[in-house]
Amino acid sequence: RRSVAYRTGFDSVNFGGKVPLGLKRKGLRIVVTGGAGFVGSHLVDRLIARGDSVIVVDNFFTGNKDNVMHHFGNPRFELIRHDVVEPLLLEVDQIYHLACPASPVHYKHNPVKTIMTNVVGTLNMLGLAKRVGARFLLTSTSEVYGDPLQHPQVETYWGNVNPIGVRSCYDEGKRTAETLTMDYHRGAGVEVRIARIFNTYGPRMCIDDGRVVSNFVAQALRKEPLTVYGDGKQTRSFQFVSDLVEGLMRLMEGEHVGPFNLGNPGEFTMLELAQVVQETIDPNAKIEFRPNTEDDPHKRKPDITKAKELLGWKPKVPLRKGLPMMVSDFRQRIFGDQKNLGA
Ligand code: NAD
Ligand code: UDP
Ligand code: UDP
Repeated sequence: RRSVAYRTGFDSVNFGGKVPLGLKRKGLRIVVTGGAGFVGSHLVDRLIARGDSVIVVDNFFTGNKDNVMHHFGNPRFELIRHDVVEPLLLEVDQIYHLACPASPVHYKHNPVKTIMTNVVGTLNMLGLAKRVGARFLLTSTSEVYGDPLQHPQVETYWGNVNPIGVRSCYDEGKRTAETLTMDYHRGAGVEVRIARIFNTYGPRMCIDDGRVVSNFVAQALRKEPLTVYGDGKQTRSFQFVSDLVEGLMRLMEGEHVGPFNLGNPGEFTMLELAQVVQETIDPNAKIEFRPNTEDDPHKRKPDITKAKELLGWKPKVPLRKGLPMMVSDFRQRIFGDQKNLGA
């Protein structure tokens, strides 16, 4: 098989598919599906800054043109409104496949569409990768571990997932997407990479997307009570978006298929998170308990030994450093217009 992943990338040097990070090179042509969303748009910023040409493919279900508007007019940037459930013909070197709603509120909204996106959407992007010889990176999720019986979670753990629950459209969808990715790798020789992303937060998250960090931050800024679901003792590990983007790019450029956990091992209960939000925004913010959602995982924390060893990656931004950066963005978006009107 031709090694074409970098065919447009270099003058005359053959790196055998391995591209040393930071090497001066001609730009690649890269597709980012879901590139108008939260994580995707930050990834696009980094790729454009590196000198690559980026095509964003997005159906704007949860993404927004505002997230990539600053690239309009750049000849190395293109935005295509397209649903990945439909086939797509493009000529590219790399595919970062992110298209899929990530907030439980969004992915439960139309569960069948979520499965279709994960299964048919991923199949189409793998078909595209196979046809043009592009390298393909799947953004999978810590949700493949379900409500984990092993803690912290290592990549070799097969998970504890309810196949018929309300979260299954996402969990099982992503598990199937991983399966397809490995089958295209084994069967068709497609160069693939799999990232299992743990809870990530940062600027450009949808303000009302229902995820816990965005909810608490928006609530504290609007002087509303922070809604803690259940007893608030369930845990999550929160990663700042710039750390994730660095991990995704290292994974794509590296030589290991994965899967790799990409997350920040700093683990917090939801009550502890509420406390950090109070410290950061408003010490007087009230907490209100609400019934928890069905099948909510009790705890989640990545073991990132593998990514540290094989990708030389580890997160750098702790929650208390990352949260203020998200807060200024949320403040701007929630109050920006009123300020301009003199309110
Ligand atoms: P997001 O909702 O902000 O972005 C998803 C993007 O995909 C949006 O722009 C949306 O419009 C687009 N999209 C959805 N369905 C599509 C379709 N059928 N065709 C084309 N575009 C479509 O979410 P995010 O947080 O940026 O997540 C990006 C990826 O990372 C997702 O695949 C998600 O499963 C994965 N992930 C994210 C997290 C996290 O905490 N943010 C954790 C685990 C995994
Ligand atoms: N596909 C696509 N773009 C391409 C090549 C394929 O969207 O450039 C889609 C194609 O429509 C198919 C899927 O990817 O639904 C899988 O393609 P593959 O060639 O692996 O399978 P086949 O078409 O032979 O069933
Ligand atoms: N959660 C909460 N209050 C909210 C939103 C979510 O306490 O306003 C809890 C939710 O029950 C879960 C955790 O926060 O235990 C993380 O939820 P999120 O939807 O952010 O992501 P998940 O990891 O469940 O996909």
